[in-house]
Amino acid sequence: MLEKLAPQKPDALLALIKLYAADDRADKIDLGVGVYRDNQGNTPVFKAIKAAEQRLFDTQDSKSYLGPEGDMGMVCGLLGHILGEDLAKDLTIDGLQTPGGTGAVRLAADTLYAAGARRIWLGTPSWPNHAPIFTASQFEVLTYRHMDVATQSLDMEALLSSLYKAEDGDVVLLHGCCHNPTGVDYTAEQWAHIVEIMAEKRLFPLVDFAYHGLGQGFEEDSAGLKTVLARLPQAMIAYSCDKNFGMYRDRVGALYAVAQDDAVMATTKSNMAALARANWSMPPDHGGAAVRIILDDAELTQMWRDEVAEMRSRMRWVRDTLAAAGTAGSVDFAPLATQNGMFSMLPLSPEQIQALRDDHAIYMAGSGRINIAGLTEGNIGKFIEAVAAVSG
Ligand code: PMP
Repeated sequence: MLEKLAPQKPDALLALIKLYAADDRADKIDLGVGVYRDNQGNTPVFKAIKAAEQRLFDTQDSKSYLGPEGDMGMVCGLLGHILGEDLAKDLTIDGLQTPGGTGAVRLAADTLYAAGARRIWLGTPSWPNHAPIFTASQFEVLTYRHMDVATQSLDMEALLSSLYKAEDGDVVLLHGCCHNPTGVDYTAEQWAHIVEIMAEKRLFPLVDFAYHGLGQGFEEDSAGLKTVLARLPQAMIAYSCDKNFGMYRDRVGALYAVAQDDAVMATTKSNMAALARANWSMPPDHGGAAVRIILDDAELTQMWRDEVAEMRSRMRWVRDTLAAAGTAGSVDFAPLATQNGMFSMLPLSPEQIQALRDDHAIYMAGSGRINIAGLTEGNIGKFIEAVAAVSG
């Protein structure tokens, strides 16, 4: 049986981590893997998480099963931050905890498939795991062009013409904010335009929200999602806490559904729970419990939001510093200041990316995606010079 399996390519970014670790040049720079780094290049545990974990350690008296919904205190506590308290109360919305944003996207795919959806539209480029997840859930994956990498700007015309080709009942995946890998988010007008066509064509929105708070601010980052929810009767939101609580390996996320009435909502939730049970039975508890403790405590919540604000402003500093450098060789850094979040894509050829690695010990994805947070006061100058050297 097992001999019939075809070998699978190792994940390119994980392979890059190994190459980076094996490089003994002292001034090497890792712009590959998508984790936040501070100005010292570290990915520390949030202070608010440390405090919550201590409280969990002191007070948790059982680790017995919670059930497929996971920690509903966390799931409900997040909603006020995602939507604001008023909208969270007005909408017919419910959700459950998932193993990270990945689990949320997978559970959304399985639930939508069970509801009869068969086709999903993904922007290109998108997070490389989107297409495999939907393929694994039996979807036909269709793509729309999102960004023109050469000009580093949104290709709205291509996006809209794809949406016009979509059919009633197709699912469209939209990045809530801090688009991975391009950093290019939609303006308020662009969101409104996209949502209007989706309403007209009766397309179903799945909003992947993995970087909330890391773009312009918590409220600003959910403006697009709110536009979706204001116009379309149903939606799903795949939320990750792995970046904005720094919980990567603890796998904390949530999947929400919005429905037009309580009956549809209850049936949807029962399907989500049944599919979660079939997939992973229940999500890991520790990280979700720590997030719940933070959200239940005003002081810890403030501490958490301040830590996210610090990350956001550091990444803004990186973007502004690159933009102030103007061009380096053939690369124009100016558009990076208008983009958001942890990633941007540079118009570099595979040869130039290889030269950055070989000659300058700078590691980035083969697509040209850079992790903005990999740049610090100590290495940003070297990075700009190296880009100029390989692309000039
Ligand atoms: N969606 C997008 C767009 C992402 O970039 C990521 C993380 N790289 C995820 C979902 C999944 O996040 P998690 O680590 O919580 O599974």
